Amino acid sequence: MITKKNLVLLGPPGAGKGTLSDPLMAQEKLAHISTGEILRGEVAAGTELGKQAEACMKSGKLVPDQVVADMVAARLATPGCADGFILDGFPRTVAQAELLEEAMNRIGMKLDAVILFEAPEDLLLQRLTARLTCKKCGVAFNKLFAPPKQEGVCDRCGGELIQRADDSLETAKNRLKVYHEQTAPLIQFYEEKGCLARIDSSLPVSEGFAALLALLK
Ligand code: AMP
Repeated sequence: MITKKNLVLLGPPGAGKGTLSDPLMAQEKLAHISTGEILRGEVAAGTELGKQAEACMKSGKLVPDQVVADMVAARLATPGCADGFILDGFPRTVAQAELLEEAMNRIGMKLDAVILFEAPEDLLLQRLTARLTCKKCGVAFNKLFAPPKQEGVCDRCGGELIQRADDSLETAKNRLKVYHEQTAPLIQFYEEKGCLARIDSSLPVSEGFAALLALLK
């Protein structure tokens, strides 16, 4: 059982935030709010928001702060988030963190923990460029570290596995650069608030998950 349930998973792309969210959600009744996943859904559905976001996402840049913050605020206010939630990939700038704080204050919520996923840069690039994502349910596999049972097919839902356009080497490098420039300042931001905990995300999934649970007790 964990006691910390309103969570932010912070860390560079490829650090395993989504990978460890999966077993955590299987064990605990937490809502998973991945801004990347929501945005990919908007792009696939061809909505106005999706059209606005698509160019930024293709090049690995960030979608404007207010756009993502509004999306998250709307989700947090739904009943599914009342028993706890995992924010995965949000906030990504100090401005987003401030907008999140305002939104949570408005609905009487507070963050219990911010978990920083850390891994060496070469491992992140290796993971990103070997990542396969299910077109249907969004779950991630990895050609090198966690291959699907059957090539090209999702173990969970049978959907087709593809490489995300932004997992190409060039875009992955740019996403890491954007992380260091715009997202890494959040480490100090949350450290100063006293709610940051760190996890070594180069560990195998089972060990990483055990370390995560220990932090959330
Ligand atoms: P992710 O799946 O979290 O790696 O996100 C994929 C892409 O969606 C990012 O490279 C950004 O273009 C966009 N995105 C996701 N979350 C955010 C966010 N919090 N702020 C701005 N852009 C975001």
